[in-house]
Amino acid sequence: MALEEYKRKRNFSKTPEPEGRVAEKKRDARFFCVQKHLASHLHYDFRLEHNGVLLSWAVPKGPSLDPKIKRLAMHVEDHPVDYGDFEGVIPEGYGAGIVMLWDRGTWTPETDDVDAALKKGDLKFKLDGYKLKGSWVLVRTGGRYSGSRGGDPNRTWLLIKHRDDWSGDLDITEFAPRSVKCDGDFEDILGGDAPAIWKSHRPAAGGDAGAMFAQIIERAAKLKSARTAATPRAAQAPRGKAKPAAASAKSAGPAANRAKNPKKK
Ligand code: MN
Repeated sequence: MALEEYKRKRNFSKTPEPEGRVAEKKRDARFFCVQKHLASHLHYDFRLEHNGVLLSWAVPKGPSLDPKIKRLAMHVEDHPVDYGDFEGVIPEGYGAGIVMLWDRGTWTPETDDVDAALKKGDLKFKLDGYKLKGSWVLVRTGGRYSGSRGGDPNRTWLLIKHRDDWSGDLDITEFAPRSVKCDGDFEDILGGDAPAIWKSHRPAAGGDAGAMFAQIIERAAKLKSARTAATPRAAQAPRGKAKPAAASAKSAGPAANRAKNPKKK
C-alpha cells in the first residue's frame, strides 16, 4: 500500500481532499497533472500516474519551457489517483491552503522500465497536457540542494524541458496562470467553486489556523493585484464569468490560458 504517508499526514474528517485508493494498474493512458498550491509557500505539485498512484514532486518555481532552466523538484509522498482532479481549499492541517488544477493530461514514459528509471534517478517522458507538452526529464541530483532541509538527499530532483517544438522562452506560469478546471485564479477557487467546503471547514477566526488562512487569502489577493499591474491591458486574458467545469475542460478555456507552440510567436 503506497499511500500510507499520504494518509498519515491527513485527517480525512477535516479535509476535503480525497482519502484515495490505489487504482488498478493501467498500461496506457497514464494521467499527469500539475496542481498549483498556495500554501505556506506557493509551489507547483507535479504528479505522474504510475502503478496506481500519483508519483509527486513539489516544484517551487513551477515548470519551465526553457531547456536551459532546470527547476528544483522535491520528491514528495505518492498521492492517490483521485487527488489528481482535486481543486479547492484545504482549510487546515497538512498542506493547508488553496489547490488549483493548473494542468492535466497524459504522460508517456520514454523508457520500458519506469521503476528502473526512477531508481536510477533519470526519468525521460513526454507530456500531453493543455499547457505542458513534448519531451521532459526528471533527474535526481544526488543531494546538491539537500542541505537546506537536512532531509533525504534522494528527494532532490530537477525538472527539465528537452529541446523540441514545445520548448521556448515563453514563461508558461506567467502566460497561463489559471486553472484548467474552472478557468479561475486562487480567488475564484476560494470564493466560487467550493463554497460549501470553504464555509463548513472554515477555521474559527483568531486561532492559528484562522490566522494562517487569513494570510493565504491576503496572498491570493496580492498575487492577483501584482499580476494585474504587471500585465499590459491588451495582453490580459478575457476574464468572463465562471464557466461550468465540464464546458471549460472541453474547450480548454480561452486561448490565453492554453498552451501555444512557443515557436509560433
Ligand atoms: Mn503541495
